[in-house]
Amino acid sequence: MHSEHIILDGKKLAIQLQNILAKEIARLPASPTLAVVVIGDNPASAIYVRNKEKAAQKVGIKCIVLKFAEDITQQELEIQIKQLNLSNEINGIIIQQPVPQHLDILKLLTLIHPQKDVDGFSPLNLGLLTMGDTQAIKAATPKGIMRLLQETGISLSGKNAIVIGRSNIVGKPMAQMLLQADCTVTIAHSKTQNLYLLVKQADIVVAACGVPYLVKADWIKNGAIVIDVGINKINGKLCGDVDFEAVKNKVSYITPVPGGVGPMTVTMLLQNTYEAFIRQNCKQ
Ligand code: NAD
Repeated sequence: MHSEHIILDGKKLAIQLQNILAKEIARLPASPTLAVVVIGDNPASAIYVRNKEKAAQKVGIKCIVLKFAEDITQQELEIQIKQLNLSNEINGIIIQQPVPQHLDILKLLTLIHPQKDVDGFSPLNLGLLTMGDTQAIKAATPKGIMRLLQETGISLSGKNAIVIGRSNIVGKPMAQMLLQADCTVTIAHSKTQNLYLLVKQADIVVAACGVPYLVKADWIKNGAIVIDVGINKINGKLCGDVDFEAVKNKVSYITPVPGGVGPMTVTMLLQNTYEAFIRQNCKQ
């Protein structure tokens, strides 16, 4: 039992950061513009896109949602992305995932101009991140998590961190960012054996596997920092990958679901779009 735990309030921090961003954007000669490519009618995606649009509007980023039919061909989409790359009006391009199965998402992401890849999902940006290049555009979810970890004021250097999940959009870039902060990083995934033993050694636990309540209280080292990325729905109620109510009593810091990582992800996407605008328009 840890004496007290602190909730890392991602919602509150996101509002603070968005207010600062809005002031910075108001000083620009034009609005940064984000293009969101949406393919088909995934209801969950529709909610995420609507959230991005609302947040963008709040800070003064123009958000253009480009909707394409479920059966659009790879070739047609590639043409659309190339046009967005060429447009001087567009500063950032993201493709809302998941995309229909017939599309080659890796090829599409590779096609996005690296300076407009504000999700940081392209092989070049993920590669630059891996090589420690500070110019890499960083994936929004792990970038937001690093910002939340900064709020704790705790030095990450030398800490044992475990990332549960190895997706290209969360797990892998998260592990790289923690590595760059001098953590000793373990990456766990669906084939990992005795996961609880690995979690038990971790000072920092990032759960990003999409398995409701997977991480249990008796897996957690006393005083660990626990970041819950999961967004799951059980009986219409949102929950994370961590058994929050039990786990919170053992930790020093923990993020809630909702109101933890999610609002930070959107904020970092906006931040990346603003930074892309600056790089594209202001000589450095
Ligand atoms: P994904 O499905 O692409 O990857 C899940 C990963 O978890 C895989 O690498 C898999 O090997 C691993 N995994 C699955 N079951 C496991 C188990 N039992 N033990 C250990 N590892 C296991 O998912 P993703 O896109 O990385 O997203 C992960 C979760 O985070 C989802 O719930 C998603 O909705 C959520 N998410 C939240 C945000 C946010 O902003 N809060 C952003 C992106 C994703």
